[in-house]
Amino acid sequence: MHFSRFSPVRFAHLPTPLEPLPGLTEHLTRDTGQGPALWIKRDDCTGLAGGGNKTRKLEFLLGDALANDADTLVTQGAIQSNHVRQTAAAAARFGMKCEIILEARTGSNAQDYNRSGNVLLDELLGARLRTVPGGTDMNQELAKVAAEVADAGGRPSVIPGGGSNSIGALGYAECALEMVAQANEMGLEIDRIVTATGSAGTHAGLVAGLAVMGADIPVLGIGVRAPKDVQEANVFRLALETAALLGHADRVTRDMVVANCDYVGAGYGLIDAAVIDALKTIARTDAILLDPVYTGKAMKGLIALAQSGEFDGETVVFLHTGGAQGLFGYQTELEGHLG
Ligand SMILES: *Cc1c(COP(=O)(O)O)cnc(C)c1O
Repeated sequence: MHFSRFSPVRFAHLPTPLEPLPGLTEHLTRDTGQGPALWIKRDDCTGLAGGGNKTRKLEFLLGDALANDADTLVTQGAIQSNHVRQTAAAAARFGMKCEIILEARTGSNAQDYNRSGNVLLDELLGARLRTVPGGTDMNQELAKVAAEVADAGGRPSVIPGGGSNSIGALGYAECALEMVAQANEMGLEIDRIVTATGSAGTHAGLVAGLAVMGADIPVLGIGVRAPKDVQEANVFRLALETAALLGHADRVTRDMVVANCDYVGAGYGLIDAAVIDALKTIARTDAILLDPVYTGKAMKGLIALAQSGEFDGETVVFLHTGGAQGLFGYQTELEGHLG
């Protein structure tokens, strides 16, 4: 796969570590003597103002924006969006302006949710924020703000929510290549990759990259918002588009896209006891900080599935997509449950 063809700009700290999770592996196998051997791909360490999975996508998206001579990045996300924080950071890094539309998607009125965590960092990074009610047509808002920027003489580049178009997803096709190269170097045989799946670019990019290189490693996406049929359809469509950019759409088939959306709970960004339990468990077994919205929910699913025997005997890589900065937006929901 020839990524230079897409002229990414390079600022991520890569390759990210691929390392074992001895504590959680022991925790999950202790009682039955069975379960997965767990590894973790540390994309929480991609380096851009806290890092996370949006950084890899932004290398390609910024490359595209700069090629089009943009001077302003325009994007959107939920209030505690990690994508927004990383986009604000990328704009700062390249001397660009950043216009952000935040959707009050969870309906939370909590001070920490609305002001702390990623929001505080967005402002620190110099982005301009505006907030719209939950359920707003965010693509329409993006177009509106881009038009305002252009009217004022700016040159906007619109980055979709989560950075999830085929250009952004190239970042995760590249991650697939990086991960397989690391596994080969270490003599590690990966049976499954598990990732949170939301706006679909991460999951789709991984599927496309693995398919195009013929790696034959299944990916399990654990949904954080949409039901399974919708999520799988979104991921499949984007995986096809991404593989097409790489010149091999024919290598992606529908059966390669698997999402489990049984762990969403009450909805996007809403946490429950099992999410808090997952956050606490891996913090205490391996000193890994997950986030409440994505990786905590994915880990809730991974732990439940491991306990049901789903991964027995497998080597499973959990993709840590970042987001721990969002923990501070959930302080009031977390404190009192950390004992
Ligand atoms: C955005 C995000 C995800 C989901 O990635 P998508 O490409 O949107 O599916 C997972 N984890 C974290 C921490 C995120 O910020």
